[in-house]
Amino acid sequence: MLSEEENIKKYLESVIRTIPDFPKPGIQFKDITTLLSDKKALQLTTKALCDPYHNSDCDIVVGLESRGFLFGTNMAEVLNASFVPVRKPGKLPSETISESYDLEYGTDSVEIHKDAIKDGDRVIIHDDLIATGGTAFAASKLVKRLGGVVIGYSFIIELGFLKGREKLDHEIIESVLIM
Ligand code: AMP
Repeated sequence: MLSEEENIKKYLESVIRTIPDFPKPGIQFKDITTLLSDKKALQLTTKALCDPYHNSDCDIVVGLESRGFLFGTNMAEVLNASFVPVRKPGKLPSETISESYDLEYGTDSVEIHKDAIKDGDRVIIHDDLIATGGTAFAASKLVKRLGGVVIGYSFIIELGFLKGREKLDHEIIESVLIM
């Protein structure tokens, strides 16, 4: 018999839709819009993301553009923390710092407001999905450059075969589903 936790994971997995060859051939895109439109799954996902971090004394949840904003703000509310967005270049209106990271072809970068994190702030970095880990690692560099302490990472989905967690040093990495 499955435990309650295993049943919840099975349920969440069942409401995530996989779209083959999107946005380009060979990518199995994990579509969470079907999870968002299921009110039970919405609540269960927020709970599963927050459960490991209730006693973490977190000050800020940093959410990665754009799907990391969806549950990042929910998590911040539940954990009594604030929310800070990390965005693609040119989107944040005030003064920013930026970090580049490698893609399969070329590079990309992410930005954060310079005044969004203070020395010693305890930060959880959240995104909907970790693939190669490049985005989350770049976000962790931004947080550290501003004096923040990364206390852990949080993902709904981890594509285990891409070994993204190996890029993320030795911090705590919590994924609700490893697919
Ligand atoms: P990475 O930097 O390789 O870990 O990629 C993570 C980012 O790309 C996240 O913001 C994801 O939302 C997105 N992403 C990468 N691969 C997928 C996928 N197969 N399905 C959905 N989103 C993906």
